[in-house]
Amino acid sequence: MARIFVTGATGYIAKHIVHLLLGQGHEVTGSTRDTSRLDELKAAVRPGLPDGAVERLSLVELDLTSDAGWDAVPTGTDAMIHTASPFPLSQPKNEEDLIRPAVDGTRRALRAAVEAGVPKVVLTSSIVSIVGNAAKMEGIVTEEDWTDPNGSDVSAYGKSKTLAERAAWDFVESEAPTLKLSVINPGLVAGPALDRHYGSSLQAIERVVKGKDPALPDFGFSVCDVRDVAEAHVIAATTTRGEGQRTAIVDRYMTFPDIAKVVDATLEDRRIPTRIAPRALVRVMALFDGEIRSILPMIGRRYDIDNTRMRAMMGRDARSAEEAVAETARFLAAEG
Ligand code: NDP
Repeated sequence: MARIFVTGATGYIAKHIVHLLLGQGHEVTGSTRDTSRLDELKAAVRPGLPDGAVERLSLVELDLTSDAGWDAVPTGTDAMIHTASPFPLSQPKNEEDLIRPAVDGTRRALRAAVEAGVPKVVLTSSIVSIVGNAAKMEGIVTEEDWTDPNGSDVSAYGKSKTLAERAAWDFVESEAPTLKLSVINPGLVAGPALDRHYGSSLQAIERVVKGKDPALPDFGFSVCDVRDVAEAHVIAATTTRGEGQRTAIVDRYMTFPDIAKVVDATLEDRRIPTRIAPRALVRVMALFDGEIRSILPMIGRRYDIDNTRMRAMMGRDARSAEEAVAETARFLAAEG
């Protein structure tokens, strides 16, 4: 049994991580800004676990934007998984609202790990730290590629994740050379949530499920399954696999129209628009819709992320992106 500290334990991805850790017999201390959510968290992760497993889960209060409370990381913790980071659907007016919690929170987490004698940290980054510049969204991309956070074609979220990941590698190099760091870079994460509290994480697919747009922009994401993302974190936290490297978790690139076709085929009682929106129409829609405005530079781009490292780490192929999208659609439809 290992003792694992998970920041942002109430999140969509983190709940899957906590579920896996408890299922493998580990002890989990999670963090949240609101510890009254412990019962909600236990209820979400309990199905499929042996009796009493959720009693190995506790919660402490932490805010990425404050120094208070980080001494709650228990001594004897074997690994910290730092998932917490603001994850908004549309970009804020002031990008510092995203960047400061992401970057300062990552530094606080790493410092807290060192102070508690935790030997290993697994950081949840994103493929936006790899391929966050629209101009670089072409051809085959690998973990050797980095987003230029100063590019005019990078979103505030992309900046926040890139600068946070950079801060983590810099911290280890300059302040904690013996700390082992693994970085997990998921693509757009799909797959069922463990409860209704999935924040903005599934909203891209939710928008398609609602059939809100008569036609869809010709752009997309490398998609992955939330269960692969969780398993990669757990492997990185409990084995030596993934140490000292970033690992992209992706199956394949899907455009919004690709996603809509899967949703349409999955939800037989709904008609989901699958048409590609003409570029000129998207530009007009962007005038009125901040979500659409933020994707304008990516229209028409195509790339694939090499998942060789992921397959080596997991010892198998990625779960299917299409199936993850289909399960998300079924989950969202069932949740109404
Ligand atoms: P969620 O929004 O579901 O979870 C993020 C968690 O972070 C929340 O539960 C929240 O916990 C915590 N958090 C947010 N702001 C703060 C803050 N200021 N202080 C402390 N905690 C905070 O997101 P996901 O599960 O989808 O994402 C988890 C991680 O994965 C993030 O780092 C995200 O960037 C990354 N990621 C997500 C992808 C996706 O498609 N979903 C793709 C690639 C990367 P609480 O409210 O309880 O404090």
